[in-house]
Amino acid sequence: MTHRIAVMPGDGIGTEVAPEGRRALEAAARRFDIALDFETFDFASCDYYLAHGRMLPEDWRQILGEFDALFFGAVGWPEKVPDHVSLWGSLLQFRREFDQYVNLRPCRLLPGIKSPLAGRQPGDIDFYVVRENTEGEYSSVGGTMFEGTDREVVIQETVMTRTGVDRVLKYAFDLAASRPRKKLTSATKSNGIAITMPWWDTRVAAAAEHYPEVSVDQFHIDILTANFVLHPDWFDVVVASNLFGDILSDLGPACTGTIGVAPSANINPEGRFPSLFEPVHGSAPDIAGRGIANPIGQIWSGAMMLEHLGYPEAGRAMLAAIEAVLDEGDERILTPDLGGQGSTQALGRAIAERIAS
Ligand code: ATP
Ligand code: MG
Repeated sequence: MTHRIAVMPGDGIGTEVAPEGRRALEAAARRFDIALDFETFDFASCDYYLAHGRMLPEDWRQILGEFDALFFGAVGWPEKVPDHVSLWGSLLQFRREFDQYVNLRPCRLLPGIKSPLAGRQPGDIDFYVVRENTEGEYSSVGGTMFEGTDREVVIQETVMTRTGVDRVLKYAFDLAASRPRKKLTSATKSNGIAITMPWWDTRVAAAAEHYPEVSVDQFHIDILTANFVLHPDWFDVVVASNLFGDILSDLGPACTGTIGVAPSANINPEGRFPSLFEPVHGSAPDIAGRGIANPIGQIWSGAMMLEHLGYPEAGRAMLAAIEAVLDEGDERILTPDLGGQGSTQALGRAIAERIAS
């Protein structure tokens, strides 16, 4: 079975790291005998917007809907197109129209990368944040009353649905059940947010009944953020609503010092629509065009994509290759952000060679 991958490099360093992601994926595909068919698109970029007045072609749903996965670089070039236009016109469209209701981010301490948390070694931190990606606190229900007067009132509602919460919990429990530690932590705030969050807790408890092998705990979001810093070794899979997950999915990678090389996935678990895999970093206009961008976030996103497509062994081999090259610490290969003098291509090639061997 051939898997069709749509590559959208996007803007800035996205166009430099996407080819390295593809190089690494091709190496993994050869080694593990996986048939990948890549097609590269120039839309979802600011240059496309300047030429066509829109970020995506009109029939993008049909074009991309036929692919098995979307492999994305980075979007945004604020000097040419305001960020809200480029982002809303591309990534947020995919998320909504392709119902990518899970946002997944690994938090893993890699060798050779300095964690801001003193004394932590690779192996100490290895967990996932699963963020609900479509509803919750980011609703547009609400408004302003008595605007401009002393009685002004602003309201924005949190909207949680049973379908929306149960499906992301199912994904998180399945993930926890598949991992050796089989542990799930729920982010809550039922002591202060008195309607939605106690209800969230009851949905977690209901889901837990289907997974007797998974041990479950929960923390209020305030102490949970503290524990990310103080006890990151406690966590295996952390599941959170849209807002709490937004915060945790930046804090987690930051604790491992990897926010610049971190990957992310926006997933439609049923596979009714393609899921999207992209590095966490943006288009980095400040270093674009110089060939020095670190390609690890893109390559690691490729590893997540192969896992999603049903090749966990190939995904693990890609991550192992990243770790081996980082562990060697060859300054001629590592990019400047890692303290080396290497280039995007040199680091990408070294990782691809390691995957192949
Ligand atoms: P966003 O896309 O969320 O708006 P941003 O535009 O604020 O993010 P980035 O584009 O991620 O931020 O860049 C932030 C900083 O990190 C910049 O100084 C950039 O050069 C650096 N950076 C980002 N990605 C990489 C990378 N892959 N390699 C090296 N440096 C990077
Ligand atoms: Mg940006």
